Amino acid sequence: MTKQEIKEILQMPREEYEKTIRAQAFETMLAEKKGVCATAMLGYSNICKNQCLYCGMRASNHLPKRYRYHAEQIVELASAAYQSGLRRLFLISGEDPKFPFEDILSVIQTAKAMGFERVSLGAGEFSRSQYVQMKAAGLDEYVMKFEMSHKDTFERLNPSTTFEKRNKAITWIQEAGLDLGSGNIVDYPGQTLEELVDDIWLMKELNVSWAPNIPYMPAAGTPLAQEGGPGRIDLMHREISLVRLLLPRADITAQQPGKNLKNGLGDTEGNLWAIQAGANVLFVDLLPAADAESFRVIDHRMVQGLEHVRGIAEKAGVNLIL
Ligand code: SF4
Repeated sequence: MTKQEIKEILQMPREEYEKTIRAQAFETMLAEKKGVCATAMLGYSNICKNQCLYCGMRASNHLPKRYRYHAEQIVELASAAYQSGLRRLFLISGEDPKFPFEDILSVIQTAKAMGFERVSLGAGEFSRSQYVQMKAAGLDEYVMKFEMSHKDTFERLNPSTTFEKRNKAITWIQEAGLDLGSGNIVDYPGQTLEELVDDIWLMKELNVSWAPNIPYMPAAGTPLAQEGGPGRIDLMHREISLVRLLLPRADITAQQPGKNLKNGLGDTEGNLWAIQAGANVLFVDLLPAADAESFRVIDHRMVQGLEHVRGIAEKAGVNLIL
């Protein structure tokens, strides 16, 4: 597929997209992934030193509460997830320099020793040697979104880092032998069609193991929310299908919003649409209710539990893989 073809697919009439590209992407998902996969997700710290213009957890934004879990609390919650049958664990955090690095390593080791088949981590930028240590501790995948493939846009929206630093981190992750989860934000204010095409192309070039992408959803109190949004769900679906066809084996987030953004990423219709488009990863939120509200990269995150995920797989008529 060429960039020009990607552009045409992003613009073709919806009906044509559904009958051709979406149908092909759904079949590819079934053939390559055999169904949708439930991943336990734990936002273990919502403290972040950065100021990404689109993010509800940016350092200067007000949240109901800022929290940081201890390694023991993380292991306890992960253990409960393991007991419930889940075998994939995604640990996520703001870029929190006060979270001890040795605790990250010990949590990874413990989770792997517990029996988790796949442990993924997304906690911001680290040094080259730290990615190597994470790999040695047993980490399977590191999630480092490139967010925007164009330097100027990236540096405008991510003022706490640079395009060069982000790309270096991505290179180091892959050199350490970790799978790379990476991707973009779809249809944020000011994104051009060419930028979206280049983002999709970059996922293919990086051979990402997971595209953890959602459409732009304005977060209260953030600078970018003043500029517009939300992103179009239609474009999100087309990106999902394109990534599925470009990278048939990749994981792609199916936890997507529907028409009513207040239903968040647990929206039944939104999740089903994403699966039809070729996505395959649903989350089971491990955060206790008292903190779930405060892990707020976007408003109304509303990720739900295992029963919801089971129900979605059933409604979609596909296998649920734990
Ligand atoms: S996107 Fe990540 S690094 Fe940026 S402010 Fe939000 S939590 Fe921090």
